[in-house]
Amino acid sequence: MKTYITNEGFREGCRCRRLFWLNMKNHISYADHCPQLTALAQDYIKGGVAVTARDLKERSEETLRFIKNGETVIKRPAFIIGGVCAEADILHIKNGIPTVYFSYAAMHMRRAFCREAGLIYAAAEINGLNTPRILMLLPKKEFERRGNIDPRQLFAVYDLTAEAFSLREKSYIFSRVLEDTLESSCEPDEPIHKNCFNPDTCKYFEHCTAHLPHPNIFKVARLNINTKLQLYKEGKVSYEQLRNEPVLTENQRKQIRMSMDKAAPAVKKKELREFLSSLWYPLCFLDFESWQPPVPPADGMHPFSQVPFQYSLHIIENEGGPVMHREYLARGESDPREELARRLVSDIPEGACVLAYNKQFESMVVSDLAHTFSDIRAPLEAIRDNIRDLMVPFQKKYYYDPKMEGSFSIKAVLPAMYPNDPELSYDNLSEIHNGSQAMLSYSTLADETPERACEIRRCLLRYCELDTLGMVKILEKLREAVK
Ligand code: SF4
Repeated sequence: MKTYITNEGFREGCRCRRLFWLNMKNHISYADHCPQLTALAQDYIKGGVAVTARDLKERSEETLRFIKNGETVIKRPAFIIGGVCAEADILHIKNGIPTVYFSYAAMHMRRAFCREAGLIYAAAEINGLNTPRILMLLPKKEFERRGNIDPRQLFAVYDLTAEAFSLREKSYIFSRVLEDTLESSCEPDEPIHKNCFNPDTCKYFEHCTAHLPHPNIFKVARLNINTKLQLYKEGKVSYEQLRNEPVLTENQRKQIRMSMDKAAPAVKKKELREFLSSLWYPLCFLDFESWQPPVPPADGMHPFSQVPFQYSLHIIENEGGPVMHREYLARGESDPREELARRLVSDIPEGACVLAYNKQFESMVVSDLAHTFSDIRAPLEAIRDNIRDLMVPFQKKYYYDPKMEGSFSIKAVLPAMYPNDPELSYDNLSEIHNGSQAMLSYSTLADETPERACEIRRCLLRYCELDTLGMVKILEKLREAVK
């Protein structure tokens, strides 16, 4: 059976051909991560008929049959153009003018969407729809849910017809390039470029930089991407080459020098002692995982609001006492906030000092919960007010280990402090290694088979637990450092 390139594949290809090739060769499937949003987009125009075929070729044939039969509202249309199948949510033909609607779970319009609109235009045109209008539906950030969702209220409509028209040939030609890429057995030789970091760091970044000296320009802290890329293009990649680079700040050069000299951790004992003495018992270590559903799951919520679905909590009641662990993970429901909030209040001892790593996020989550559940507002606000930030000693350089490579993220700090402890290694986790993967896994949990859901839950629990266990261990090291 022929493998067609879909809209998602085309979009990934626009970001980077190498990313597209790696995904295709690794059989990464582009599942619809928000079927609820797709269903609402398809309901933007009421009535009509829906294409039901699953196979892309059959889906395209069914679409053409409906058009031939004079249907004017067709849901889930698809149009094949060469080796690409351009999918959309609705085809609406009114007074002979075809309008194609497509949607995406994104907060902002991106350039890649215009190229995708160009592809849809070219595909619709080649399948007999003359001068189609191409409209994109994106959830409005300001939409606030009140009861059932009206798609007309939820979506902002962007008319991309002009962009699609001007990009249609380019998009078509690029789709042919992707077809050739797909057929090739050689990984495309793409250098590191801006899209490796846009919209986030590409999952293949380590793979694509494996041939560079380590550490390298991409590890220099607080240096903007454009400058990094410029230096990379100039061949200034290794720390040796960057050691005296004038565009770097003194702090960045210090990071490089300390790393090259393999210097011991630098500790500002006075400041670190002050930080440690601001903590008290019972001492809790808290970490949330959350997701941002494009369709607000409850009244009063907006698209992409943070919905916490999991926490891990380590507790030490008294100095020298045992470390206990509590955790919560929702079953996959779209709005588990109430159960999570009540469990949190009962799990955290009254008056406890709560350590988070980068407390801004944990404080915001607890504040939102307090605002939403008025009967437990007081204990939640007390928890929020008692949150302290374990990132501070690293952010303020009270403790700096060159192995952190200028970063104060827990994912840099923990392995630098415990380089040989497999129990504290994020690399040894299976499947879920960061918050984005956790969010994505949770969003699919309700649709998985029981066996697969069980496996995902195990990975989520282990990942979140490592964050708080890591904090316990980091605190131990900081205390040792001031002895
Ligand atoms: S890291 Fe960059 S070059 Fe490599 S696959 Fe990702 S986007 Fe492409």
